[in-house]
Amino acid sequence: MMKIALIAHDKKKPEMISFVKEHLNIFKTHELYATGTTGALLVEHTGLNIHLKKSGPLGGDQEIGSMVANQLIDMIIFFRDPLTAQPHEPDVSALLRLSDHYEIPLATNISTAKLFIAALEI
Ligand code: PGA
Repeated sequence: MMKIALIAHDKKKPEMISFVKEHLNIFKTHELYATGTTGALLVEHTGLNIHLKKSGPLGGDQEIGSMVANQLIDMIIFFRDPLTAQPHEPDVSALLRLSDHYEIPLATNISTAKLFIAALEI
């Protein structure tokens, strides 16, 4: 069982919901964490049990970063919106930086996330 963090920027939330729904059997065997809005939507649409952090712009990305620093997260799926400026861009960068430091696998788009799921299925 892995501890997996799920985060999606606003325009990517529909993609995150359908991705998690599509792989529900995999996700329900792991411990899930998410930023507030992403997590609430996922709970509503999938019924999964998810530990909710604050909304990303209000500190949720930093909360996930803190878990990474304490080695409490094994994998991150973070569907970023590359076409929209984010007010909390420094927090996003900080999370990516810490994930690289601690060598946490982090998917920032659906193609990479599909490869992660394939790895989890083994
Ligand atoms: P949210 O945060 O799930 O609360 O929208 C995601 C983000 O923008 O980092």
